[in-house]
Amino acid sequence: MAKLYYRFGTMQSNKSNQIITTHYQYTTQGKRCLAYSTPVDTRSGFKKIKSRIGLELEAEYVTDNIFKQVKSAHEEEKVYAVLVDEAQFLKKSEVHHLSDIADELDIPVIAFGLKTDFRNQLFEGSKVLLELADAIDELKTVCQYCNKKATLNMRMMGGRPVNVGQTIQIGDEEYVPVCRKCYKERLPLV
Ligand SMILES: [Zn+2]
Repeated sequence: MAKLYYRFGTMQSNKSNQIITTHYQYTTQGKRCLAYSTPVDTRSGFKKIKSRIGLELEAEYVTDNIFKQVKSAHEEEKVYAVLVDEAQFLKKSEVHHLSDIADELDIPVIAFGLKTDFRNQLFEGSKVLLELADAIDELKTVCQYCNKKATLNMRMMGGRPVNVGQTIQIGDEEYVPVCRKCYKERLPLV
């Protein structure tokens, strides 16, 4: 039976690069693989996943039609995997559809995203994925200020750490991956 995977990490943990590489691995073996992203993140322009090292991948936006879309694509030509970038922005219903793709169509679904926002609260999509995924992996990166593993995303405004503002504001230069200790040295936990 196919699995629903959730691979989470902080900012700069190589998520977009991994999704593009995974897509490349499937397609070079002649295995069709569908790439999706979420419409909240318009940083990359319409339907495009971009990694920091310059790789790009065309992607559809996830909607509540994703199960039907994948099912009809799979009926036309076998689909070997479904990849989802920026999965933290998925709605609960969309994560449910992803689980149906794994369970009913027997196609593995690999979702990549952030676990928490800059206030250290779970995103809705991440919460449901952590609850439902068969396999959960952490993509690791190093704290901006020390040599420990980063687990939190700190928002920077004008070079200073802040914990105020809209939850959804995207732009990598405004966030840095930090460990909890370094976070607390700069901001109180809220
Ligand atoms: Zn640190």
